[in-house]
Amino acid sequence: MATTTASLQNFIDGEYVDPVEGQTEPVLNPATGEVIAHAPLSTAADVDRAVTAARNAFDGWATTTPGERAGMLLKLADAIEEHGEELAALESDNAGKPIEAFRNDEIPFMVDNLRFFAGAARCLEGRATGEYLGGYTSMTRREPVGVIGQIAPWNYPLMMAVWKIGPALGAGNTVVLKPAETTPLTTLKLAEYAGEIFPKGVLNVITGHGDPTGQALVTHEQVDMVSLTGSVETGKWIARAAADNLKRVHLELGGKAPVVVFDDVELDTALETIAGTGYYNAGQDCTAATRVLAGSKVYDNVVGGLAEQAGGLVLGDTRSSDTTLGPLNSARQRERVESFLERRPRNAEVVTGGREPDRPGFFLEPTVVAGLRQDDEMIQREIFGPVITVQQFSDEAEAIAWANGTPYGLASSVWTRDVGRAMRVANALRFGCVWINDHIPLVSEMPHGGFKQSGYGKDLSMYALEDYTEVKHVMVSLS
Ligand code: NAD
Repeated sequence: MATTTASLQNFIDGEYVDPVEGQTEPVLNPATGEVIAHAPLSTAADVDRAVTAARNAFDGWATTTPGERAGMLLKLADAIEEHGEELAALESDNAGKPIEAFRNDEIPFMVDNLRFFAGAARCLEGRATGEYLGGYTSMTRREPVGVIGQIAPWNYPLMMAVWKIGPALGAGNTVVLKPAETTPLTTLKLAEYAGEIFPKGVLNVITGHGDPTGQALVTHEQVDMVSLTGSVETGKWIARAAADNLKRVHLELGGKAPVVVFDDVELDTALETIAGTGYYNAGQDCTAATRVLAGSKVYDNVVGGLAEQAGGLVLGDTRSSDTTLGPLNSARQRERVESFLERRPRNAEVVTGGREPDRPGFFLEPTVVAGLRQDDEMIQREIFGPVITVQQFSDEAEAIAWANGTPYGLASSVWTRDVGRAMRVANALRFGCVWINDHIPLVSEMPHGGFKQSGYGKDLSMYALEDYTEVKHVMVSLS
């Protein structure tokens, strides 16, 4: 069902404006393939307008008190809570999300996240203040970096936007935010609420593709820092481009989360959680539990149990509360996921799924693939769809080596009743997060971010707030 066929506009300097060159493109509902809006294809001229607005707003915003900034972030959290149903309808239609999941999981977490950063903004502090040289007092200050270019992905469009702006604005920076080209609706709605709360120019939203819009933002000389949540390839492009004038870079990139299941696991709970979090958001989640490594005694039961769980998912109308599996975000993303299945090696066994159901939109059946080897492409590369792979390991050392044996390092989990083993394995895993006997819960107080090619810099927590600051030493002569 189409919610709107509105012509969307960029949000710059406190008002909605058309793109300078006037070009737009259709935005689709991935569950139906229907056009639901038209969004600006912004060019370098639009980026310049937005960055100029953010630059002009910076001095005023950076000198507000933490308490004033906190008050505005709290109001934005209230606005999201108040407009939850409107946002749920928009996100469900634009991102193909089952509406219940967005209502129950994403809205409360976003609200909590902004409230956390409102509080955290008031607690930023330098670590030392004292007389370290006779006759002088030293102090450290944490100051905002400046204008931040923030670039978001399509899998959690509004939530990733919120995770980005909370710490950036809380620390006193101004922002130009670009949502992914396929999912601009809720981010532009967020800008509307923010426009009622923040001074003009503090938060600007422009839409368009990575090329040229994102690239123009990354390379703009008045942008002091770039923050991306996206793929490893885009992260590398941005890191290279930012090197030209040594912009600060904050990268939350892809993942390939290993789920290490030992033979002594509490199997029913594990299977329900692994399938629940592997197929959550149709597997389009950087921490999704989609790479299962199972001990030899439980392997068959894990494969069979996951296939059974896949069979229990309800695929369909994303506005229905009964639906538990939505579509892929775009025809392109479904083709990408299917291409992994088409290229699969002979040893791979598609236990269930792998086909397009007979309905409109970009759906794919929930899939389990067994029999894969460690160096197979489906193990080594992020698939980002409703596909769970299962490998069989022989002992703890092999489990750890395989779990660590991809270029990614975002999230992981270990499943065992043996506390010593759980701790040994958790210590050995090279990931930004390890869950023990669970997978996927995140909290605003704890950091989220990658090791290795999953990027650097943290979202959530005080670490994120600090990432958006510069440390300054001020030394006062006492004479
Ligand atoms: P993507 O990298 O293709 O796009 C992400 C964003 O970057 C989009 O807004 C896109 O327009 C923009 N972009 C693309 N090329 C650009 C360039 N050269 N310069 C500037 N901007 C550019 O990723 P995607 O397919 O939209 O998102 C899925 C990816 O995001 C997956 O790899 C997923 O794992 C990752 N992700 C990571 C996290 C995390 O917290 N680490 C969270 C969600 C998603």
